[in-house]
Amino acid sequence: MSYQIAIDGPAGAGKSTIAKKVAKTKGFIYVDTGAMYRAMAYYLLTQGIDPENADDIEANCVNADITICYENGEQVVMLNGENVNGVIRNEEVGNMASSSSKNPKVRERLTILQKELAAKNNVVMDGRDIGTCVLPNADVKVYLTASAKVRAKRRYDELSAKGVSCDIRQIEEDIIKRDEQDMNREIAPLKQAEDAVLVDSSDMTIEEVVQAILDLCR
Ligand code: C5P
Repeated sequence: MSYQIAIDGPAGAGKSTIAKKVAKTKGFIYVDTGAMYRAMAYYLLTQGIDPENADDIEANCVNADITICYENGEQVVMLNGENVNGVIRNEEVGNMASSSSKNPKVRERLTILQKELAAKNNVVMDGRDIGTCVLPNADVKVYLTASAKVRAKRRYDELSAKGVSCDIRQIEEDIIKRDEQDMNREIAPLKQAEDAVLVDSSDMTIEEVVQAILDLCR
């Protein structure tokens, strides 16, 4: 049986940073499920699909073949045979992902892939519905959050460090809007699983959060 660590939480809570470090320490693979939803969203954007048109999303998502592989320990998301890691990390794709991930067909396709990966490998998997839907029997479940202000500031610092000019208030608004969509959708909404441990990282360092999660693994 594989060992499964599920980390869910809102946008910008630091899930991927933390999950990567936990995976490295444990020697597990890291599965970033948000990147899969982003790859799907990127595909739909290239097809000119309207984020609110559920029929078009459903009809077109079947043409996106999404797989993941690992290069030097880093997850690479492949869309129809092409590495899309470099084009999915922007607000336009994130917002489309939040709209298209409401669609049952999109979720069904990606959830199957995620379950397969976790059945074959020891994983640290992060997302919105991992502890509630994808891996309901995960060995460790964490709901990682932080205040919207702290999350916006972290994203702002990250983008500024890359030389991207941005507006912190706009980032905070986007984060709040995306969380609202993710928490209020009908299928697999973002919520804390009953058996998940709540970790609020607002006043914690990365190392403290990583250690808190490692302490939960026996
Ligand atoms: O985590 P990230 O910000 O990359 O995720 C982008 C979007 O993908 C989220 O806002 C959410 O709508 C969707 N998502 C999801 N279920 C997951 C992971 C991400 O619905 N397990």
